[in-house]
Amino acid sequence: MNRNLSAAIAAKRDDLIALTQDLIRIPTLNPPGQDYRAICEYLDKRLSKHGFDTQLIRAHETPGDSSKYPRWNIVARREGAHSGECVHFNSHSDVVEVGAGWTFDPFGAEVVDGKIYGRGTCDMKGGLAASIIAAETFIETHPDFVGAIEISGTADEESGGYGGVAYLAEKGFFDPARVQHVIIPEPLQKDRICLGHRGGWWAEIETKGEIAHGSMPFLGDCAIRHMGAVLSEFESKLYPAMAARRTDMPVVPEGARSSTMNINSIHGGQKEQSEDFTGLPAHCVPDSCRIVIDRRFLSEEPLDQVRNEVTALLEGLRETRPDFRYELTELNSVLPSITDRDAPIVMTVAQAIEDVMGKAPEYVASPGTYDQKHIDRIGRLKNCIAYGPGILELAHKPDEYVGIDDMIDSACVMGAALESLLLPKG
Ligand SMILES: [Zn+2]
Repeated sequence: MNRNLSAAIAAKRDDLIALTQDLIRIPTLNPPGQDYRAICEYLDKRLSKHGFDTQLIRAHETPGDSSKYPRWNIVARREGAHSGECVHFNSHSDVVEVGAGWTFDPFGAEVVDGKIYGRGTCDMKGGLAASIIAAETFIETHPDFVGAIEISGTADEESGGYGGVAYLAEKGFFDPARVQHVIIPEPLQKDRICLGHRGGWWAEIETKGEIAHGSMPFLGDCAIRHMGAVLSEFESKLYPAMAARRTDMPVVPEGARSSTMNINSIHGGQKEQSEDFTGLPAHCVPDSCRIVIDRRFLSEEPLDQVRNEVTALLEGLRETRPDFRYELTELNSVLPSITDRDAPIVMTVAQAIEDVMGKAPEYVASPGTYDQKHIDRIGRLKNCIAYGPGILELAHKPDEYVGIDDMIDSACVMGAALESLLLPKG
């Protein structure tokens, strides 16, 4: 590692803090997906000043894109003195809703005891700021570098990434002929390399019944009782089967090393009334009950198997339970993604962590998905990891923060990785 580069990054502490604060104060809440244009313009101004060529790209007609809430993205590219490989840092610019329980102003970006507080500090504007400081300082220290550096700020990661990385990947921005290495500075901790994530399958199951008077339920057919039978099959068969499956992926936390399924919601019978409604319920047998399931699966499980396992339980009920009728609607699916441990970006960042922090990195995989899926599946670019400052468990929580020292350390790791990839060898 070049000690000059680390020292130069550390000397930019104030700039790093101010940059992070500026980003936090643009409240890019998703939903609805607001202020994407404002944050892209801010990044455009900053990166243009440092010699980047920038493109602002609107993801027209992707979910949520409208004239009120356009899905804007920025891709900034800085060419080196000689042609060579391109290292791309991709950060999502959106943040999730604030929620209750804050003691800090969620968009105030207050600094207390070496931490910056606010929605998106950890997930992931702190990572975005660290990558910008790393890239700018690298360029100043090595103006004659070989290859290119790209920084992108993309929309909608928190809602699937279709108006962000997926759109850019479809337009060829992650073509392996154009970009060779990708680092996503999600908050996985400064000494860990995240190789990928589990898959996800989301579906709605509706059981059907027949409406009748509540005093004579035998004249109708109760959809909620049918759903009870579905849930009991899940409890007795599906959950034990999922818990018994263990993956070789290094997923953290430990509990996510098995297959899991959340039941996201349940609705049956009479609609819930508004809060000011003071009447009593009418007496009806419910003719419909719906649940949404959120099934997370392992790289060892094919999506077809995940799907068939649930369908087989439902079909079994159709055979054994009189009048059981159901409908299953798939909502979305995402395949697992995992980068090889000997991929160039993994080896490079591992060495950089050792050099900067004096310890070997921990290799992890994420329980939930992030934009790596689109870079892998649409872009066909396998050489991608998540690496960035911040504590994953703070993401989406009240009083979310990022440590300033952590941002500096991870910027030093990113800078060291750029030195090993973009300086002439020997
Ligand atoms: Zn994130």
